[in-house]
Amino acid sequence: MTITGEMLIGFSAVRGTEGSQRAFNPATDSEIPEPSFGMGGAAEVERAASLAAQAFDVFRNVPLAKRAAFLDAIADNILGIGDELIERAHAETGLPIARLQGERGRTVGQLRLFAKVVRDGHFLGSTIDHAQPERQPLPRADLRLAKVPVGPVAVFGASNFPLAFSVAGGDTASALAAGAPVIVKAHGAHLGTSELVGRAIQKAVREQGLPEGVFSLLIGAGRKLGEALVAHPVIKAVGFTGSRQGGLALIRIANARPEPIPVYAEMSSINPVFLFPGALASRAEAIGKAFADSLTLGAGQFCTNPGLVLAIDSPDLDRFIKAAGESLATKPAQTMLTPGIFDAFRSGAQKVDGVQGVTKVAQGVSAGDLPNAAQAALYVTDAQRLLATPELEAEMFGPASVVIRARDFDELLSVAEHVEGQLTVTLQFDAVDHADAQRLLPVLERKAGRILANGFPTGVEVCHAMVHGGPFPSTSNPMFTSVGATAIDRFLRPVCYQDLPDALLPAALKEANPLAVWRLVDGELNA
Ligand code: NAP
Repeated sequence: MTITGEMLIGFSAVRGTEGSQRAFNPATDSEIPEPSFGMGGAAEVERAASLAAQAFDVFRNVPLAKRAAFLDAIADNILGIGDELIERAHAETGLPIARLQGERGRTVGQLRLFAKVVRDGHFLGSTIDHAQPERQPLPRADLRLAKVPVGPVAVFGASNFPLAFSVAGGDTASALAAGAPVIVKAHGAHLGTSELVGRAIQKAVREQGLPEGVFSLLIGAGRKLGEALVAHPVIKAVGFTGSRQGGLALIRIANARPEPIPVYAEMSSINPVFLFPGALASRAEAIGKAFADSLTLGAGQFCTNPGLVLAIDSPDLDRFIKAAGESLATKPAQTMLTPGIFDAFRSGAQKVDGVQGVTKVAQGVSAGDLPNAAQAALYVTDAQRLLATPELEAEMFGPASVVIRARDFDELLSVAEHVEGQLTVTLQFDAVDHADAQRLLPVLERKAGRILANGFPTGVEVCHAMVHGGPFPSTSNPMFTSVGATAIDRFLRPVCYQDLPDALLPAALKEANPLAVWRLVDGELNA
């Protein structure tokens, strides 16, 4: 497939005229010569939004089987691109080929999961309360609830998942599954990859005979295009993964609109790992080694990277630090996604390094001449220092972490109370630690969206029970997840139909249940 550097607006390929940009290879620190990408602006947002508005009622009313077939077709078309997609993503991101192949599998699996969710129809939340004409003192009307899509959705592709959380990633898949047209703002860090995947979606829209406004892909340098997209009145919700500043900026724009809209922003998390005394006593070395593997996976560019480790001070904690440090010392420096992300990591780590009372206890292999390559680092300090130093809690977004020595369990609890909202918290414990773990759990349930036992937080399964969300600042809305089947709920709203004749009700609420979906009927769940 040829990459042309154009935007995809409905069925058209449009060359932007608001400047141009070439893709960048962070591993060679050089531009990828061809093609040059033409940047878009407000005019392209207007065109894509107008098409999305026209497509909305048609798309949301196609039979669920057809909507599901569309998601499957996107998956097939992405696989159909073949190695070209992996090679281009590798050149643009520096991520290893094997990782990108795995990520493609996750992307395709995610689309197929949402196809199943659509076919099952449970996401509609169909609920029926039959009329009670004889009820005293007043009769009850017939009341039926089903969920409808909110309207066209804007998606900001994430830099760190060029496939699984970008153009056809989790936000797009869940919004399309909900029946919402999607306009993606491609991330500048993988423009060619974005175009290839965008063309696979555009092809699927055509093949399935859907209206062209179901999908558009825009590119724009600087902030203007993204700002115009979030401000556009046709857009009814936003999916975003990226920096805290970026997410908060988009939330401000969304809230300042005459009609404010939700921004589902996944922003920053340092994913505390609690090491309990029993676990440290029995397996400090094994935990240290596994921790170093998790910390350096993907050059630490995961929202679930373990950036904070907490434990009661003891010789066993020293064993953990020694083992983690020895393992880190063997880890090669790895190319980061962009020079900007590399600079942000370096300056974040330097800030931590400069805090009085913080000691760097280990580092990875030096980057040498390798451009944009992150050297892993491990720091140690005490709980009082953490409580007094907000910089120690900032996401470093790279392979660096801070170990906190607590005096006793009460101090550990106060640090747990103190930390900001998180995507994950992890507990390493043995049976002898259960009572302490139980004391900590109520605090952790208030802090995080996912609580793991004896694992590490990197690696997010895409399934029905996954929660990839959490209190601020890990996300802007802790009531939802951006990964897993229930991510679809972000783009749905309930509508209640009162006394509508059967002929006018949506299929999911008709008395005969023609879709055979699960429904709550007069308070009882039945198929
Ligand atoms: P980013 O700077 O937040 O950018 C993400 C997307 O949002 C880009 O398309 C960007 O457009 C757009 N954007 C950002 N601020 C905007 C604004 N004020 N108005 C309109 N659009 C805006 O994230 P990034 O480029 O992926 O990486 C930068 C840093 O974000 C990293 O160093 C890391 O700290 C953090 N990050 C965190 C996660 C996580 O999962 N926790 C993931 C990725 C990145 P432009 O490119 O045109 O500015």
